[in-house]
Amino acid sequence: MNTVRKKLEKINISGSICFDEPMALHTTFRVGGPADIFITPSGIDDLKLILPWAQRENLPIFPLGAGANILVSDRGIRGLVINLSGLNEMTLHGEVLVAGAGVEINKLVEKAADASLSGLEFIYGMPGSVGGSVWMNARCYGISLSDILKWVENLDPDGRITRYEKREEDFSYKRSPFQGSRSIILRSAFLLQKGSPEKIRKEMEAHRSDRKRKGHYLAPCAGSVFKNNRDFGEPSGKIIDSLGLKGYQIGGARVADFHGNIIINNGNAQAADIRNLIEFIQKEVFENRGFMLEPEVLYAGEWLDQYC
Ligand SMILES: Cc1cc2nc3c(=O)[nH]c(=O)nc-3n(C[C@H](O)[C@H](O)[C@H](O)COP(=O)(O)OP(=O)(O)OC[C@H]3O[C@@H](n4cnc5c(N)ncnc54)[C@H](O)[C@@H]3O)c2cc1C
Repeated sequence: MNTVRKKLEKINISGSICFDEPMALHTTFRVGGPADIFITPSGIDDLKLILPWAQRENLPIFPLGAGANILVSDRGIRGLVINLSGLNEMTLHGEVLVAGAGVEINKLVEKAADASLSGLEFIYGMPGSVGGSVWMNARCYGISLSDILKWVENLDPDGRITRYEKREEDFSYKRSPFQGSRSIILRSAFLLQKGSPEKIRKEMEAHRSDRKRKGHYLAPCAGSVFKNNRDFGEPSGKIIDSLGLKGYQIGGARVADFHGNIIINNGNAQAADIRNLIEFIQKEVFENRGFMLEPEVLYAGEWLDQYC
């Protein structure tokens, strides 16, 4: 690690570099072991230096948004975690809002509302960054982020910037063409339309209140644990509830008493507790109902059976 440290100093970025950074500080589950190297680039110029360097050094990279959809293992993440919160610029071009990957979703929606632009209200109140949410193709209240996406600018591992123009057929439920790619999302453009400021604000607040009422902000969690595309005829939460699993606990991980599809960290959970609980639920559902629920939460870092 010392040689890596020395080499890193030489690439001379203006952002910050930390070693053995606890990922629990950067995930909404509030669990996760250390990242070997945790870099917060201050902008695109830093990233253009870091990515080719990591490629030359053969170091894996993990792009980090707001950490709202990942379960990082207790062993942590090998290689580089690239915290994209420094890519936080937003610009308006008529009815097109362009935002850096690190912009918080709520700030994005507020910027649109300030300009009386409608289209993003559905996602207000969802924890996450623009980059992570485009990558995930986040979906709330029947609308996917891809529905209003116009283009995405990416940085490939060689440090080249490319622009992707949205094609409807590349997206589906919680799927985007960026999954499986080794590029980093830098900026995304959203096509909005003029609307009534009062109506926009009212709708935003309605969505945030609905989340509050459903208990989303009560305890550390990552929102829905399992995908909810109703492949099995009813919401995953209802299926889990029907098996009497609400309130079921393994270590410090608990199926929320208020929602069958949310697992909360009860204060002292390890990542392993949460994963064991996810797998227990899958087993129970499979044995009782004959199908396998697919996790929406992504396993990240070094697990005994795999490296994600
Ligand atoms: C209380 C709560 C409620 C939630 N409700 C919803 C909901 O209604 N709908 C929904 O869809 N989700 C929901 N979620 C999950 C989460 O908010 C979304 O998935 C969100 O889009 C994740 O964004 P993020 O920035 O936190 O991504 P992260 O969790 O940081 O990352 C997710 C994935 O994206 C990759 N990634 C992140 N940024 C980039 C980038 N710039 N370039 C390339 N790859 C990148 C990461 O490597 C990782 O693989 C909820 C979560 C919580 C805690």
